[in-house]
Amino acid sequence: MFLEKERKKVIEIARRASTEKLVPLTFGNFSLRDKETGHVCITPSGMPYMTLEPEDIVVVDTDGNIIDGKRKPSIETPLHTAVYRKRPDVFGVVHTHSTFLTAWACLDGDLPCITSEAASLVGGSVKNAPFAVQGTQELADVTSDTLGNDKAVLMANHGAICVDESIDKAYNNAVVLEESAKVAYLAFTLGKPNLLSEQIAKALQKETNENYGQ
Ligand code: 13P
Ligand code: ZN
Repeated sequence: MFLEKERKKVIEIARRASTEKLVPLTFGNFSLRDKETGHVCITPSGMPYMTLEPEDIVVVDTDGNIIDGKRKPSIETPLHTAVYRKRPDVFGVVHTHSTFLTAWACLDGDLPCITSEAASLVGGSVKNAPFAVQGTQELADVTSDTLGNDKAVLMANHGAICVDESIDKAYNNAVVLEESAKVAYLAFTLGKPNLLSEQIAKALQKETNENYGQ
């Protein structure tokens, strides 16, 4: 099967998101860009993640044309492909409806930079893209524009997307930011939290990029 390993990887991540409660039911969508062909493997629209088979994953090019697969691809395919076209460094896109990030996405404004792990990842607050109807080109445009060169963006009254150089890393970013959104909620409920300044957030991001891990 064409891009079988990559299709299986997309299913693995979608199932983790379902098990780890980053998406209810069939919401959210997941994709990776294959380095060799440049094609995108994306989840089908509205199918339960736990029973997906590799042939259910749709292969499209970065203009959204179907290359392989019989299923209708995610309605957010225009969003995923817009991100891949604008960001040559991105090879994985994870769209979640996780509870705390979505709650912040329902507020007017960005998710404040409050935990050091979020700062390390995004180097500041997580921007909230303007509202647009799901599955539209407008949503793809405003969300990918607001993402800019960041690793995550909120989608107003809807959810979030996280991106990175692999789908594994994009998924990790979604987990870290959901935890940070939860901590931010608790901290604001307890009192008036100290926010991290843009300068400190950038320093944390630089330190992480240069020194963290093996
Ligand atoms: P799909 O099932 O078509 O991917 O749509 C889910 C979703 O989250 C839309 O924003
Ligand atoms: Zn969605």
